[in-house]
Amino acid sequence: MSAKEVKNQSEADDKNKSSDVAVAPDSSQKAVKPDVIRTPQSAGDGASSGAKVGAESAKVGAGAGAGADAQKSGTAPVTPAVTPASPVTPAVTPASPVTPASPVTPASPVTPAPGGAGAATAGAAPASGGQISAAKVDALMRSLFVEGVTCVTAPNGSFPIKEDQRSLLALFSNGRFLVSEAHKFDGRVLSFEVLARKRRLQVGKPEYIPQELITAIYEKALNTSYSIGSADSDDQLQMQKDFVTIIARAAAIRVSDVHVVVADKTTVMFRLNGLMQTEIEYSKDWGESFVRAAFSSADISDANYAQSEYQAAQKLGTTPLRGSKGKLLLPKNVLGIRLQFNPIAFGSRYLVMRLLYSDEGSEANSLAALGYSERDEEIFFRLRSVPTGMIIISGPTGSGKSTTLQRNMIRLLEERNYESNLLTVEDPPEYPIPGARQMPVTNAPTDAEKDIEFTKALAATLRSDPDVLMIGEIRTLAAAQLAFKGALSGHAVWTTLHANSAPAVLMRLRDMGMEPFKLQDPGIIKGMVAQRLFRKLCPYCRIPAIEQPNHPAVKRLYKAFDEFGLSQAFLRGPGCSFCNHKGVKGRTAVGEMVIPDAKLLELLINNETKKATDYWTTELGGRTLKENALEKMLIGDIDVEEIERWCGLLDEKAVY
Ligand SMILES: [Zn+2]
Repeated sequence: MSAKEVKNQSEADDKNKSSDVAVAPDSSQKAVKPDVIRTPQSAGDGASSGAKVGAESAKVGAGAGAGADAQKSGTAPVTPAVTPASPVTPAVTPASPVTPASPVTPASPVTPAPGGAGAATAGAAPASGGQISAAKVDALMRSLFVEGVTCVTAPNGSFPIKEDQRSLLALFSNGRFLVSEAHKFDGRVLSFEVLARKRRLQVGKPEYIPQELITAIYEKALNTSYSIGSADSDDQLQMQKDFVTIIARAAAIRVSDVHVVVADKTTVMFRLNGLMQTEIEYSKDWGESFVRAAFSSADISDANYAQSEYQAAQKLGTTPLRGSKGKLLLPKNVLGIRLQFNPIAFGSRYLVMRLLYSDEGSEANSLAALGYSERDEEIFFRLRSVPTGMIIISGPTGSGKSTTLQRNMIRLLEERNYESNLLTVEDPPEYPIPGARQMPVTNAPTDAEKDIEFTKALAATLRSDPDVLMIGEIRTLAAAQLAFKGALSGHAVWTTLHANSAPAVLMRLRDMGMEPFKLQDPGIIKGMVAQRLFRKLCPYCRIPAIEQPNHPAVKRLYKAFDEFGLSQAFLRGPGCSFCNHKGVKGRTAVGEMVIPDAKLLELLINNETKKATDYWTTELGGRTLKENALEKMLIGDIDVEEIERWCGLLDEKAVY
């Protein structure tokens, strides 16, 4: 048995190695054309080799080839190495000499008996032993293995399955799902379908085919995948591997953003718990290829990469990287990546990737898990039961407001038994909200055009009979007008806004151009929430404030909270192995929630901020973000200095 024989034999053929029969096709191959057999690697080669074999086999004689093949097929229905589909069905080959057989084709020649009749009627009795015409097999293969589509269940696919399952079914990246017709109700088929859907793979309606065709599909899948091709695409694939490696490294420690700055050299930075840290440095060339590969790996992006333009893209966690032939996937806990490509002065490119994680389990979906107190949860609950009006969550970029919005929407649907029609307009949809209909916004090259597309989608959503509307973010007056229109026409509208405090929400909307009379209506403005994320102190290495009485912040702490403050609060420690030597671990949300009445809205609209704040905190029982954060400081969750950085000095009142 020669080396090349082994290389080309299918697994099943190995069983035959010792028998005389197996030698026969080998010798016939040699007689046909040795060099053809050595290289059935790429699809292109396969086609041409098929043609050659077809032509040659006419001289060699159908007898030897087909006879050997027939005997082999008793144990191995598919014999890619042998290829000569043609001898059995001579009618097919000469008619179309260019594409007679892919390297895999020949499941058919079970019946060497002369007469195309056998082949022609084969389809009628497939279960009896697979008499399928080569033409049919060929047509099926060509319909399956089209440009950019891969067999995900193959051993080299993105979702490989066990061998016994593999003999029963095959799933393709475009959702085509082929099942052995004799195993329609086999538990292994059914359990695969359940698992695949759970993994959010695209699974179409099963197509039932004879079992040997399934085997043929995998032979083809293995052969075609080797043809990765030119050096260019090899480089591209290597960069894509680097891309996945860096994302995996970031995801393992739950980095929120990865920054890639390409200048004289390339710097890759991770933002972890809000802090930037340099992760690796590479050459400028590497960075340029990396950013390019990141762009071309995305699912949703502009058509062409343009180094000097601002471009946005998105990569979903459910699909393989574009162009990686189904081989490269994001780490499992990454739901998706939002990519922003920026030109940069004194350099060439600045890429920022926001990683979105899939949080599993309903515990992780709760607001308490974000850091909200029971009292806050209670207020959110009341807001969720509001039938009409606007609820606006505000905060600066990176304050976690989208997450809070999403969790409220998940809870809202749960609480209403999924009987409310929740429509969302987001650009782009960040997290899945089970039971909601999440409308994407058409990607557009410029911000102005994006805003137009966003407004279009929002207007369409309003016409689509929503009960509850969630608007990712209000950025323009047009979007704000539509949001208010939704609230006025009897819907609950939840959205986010870039504003620094709950009272500032109204100022921001007024500055955008909203009419004050709408902003002053407590029937419309039902809730304003502001939120920040604070880094959580590591409970193992934090330092009791009382041990640092001369620290300036601790002195202010004493002034504001006396001995009690000193005994309760902590400073950030030196770091330990638990917190990765950072002194902080994870983040916690702190919010302030305003449920306004007419008087508060009026005071705010008239710029009487001080009066408004006093009225809110005394008459309406409101609690400022600073007060809520201080509460967390006094249980040792947040560092004394961090509070001062975000909320002002401890011995002063919150300023609005
Ligand atoms: Zn620590």
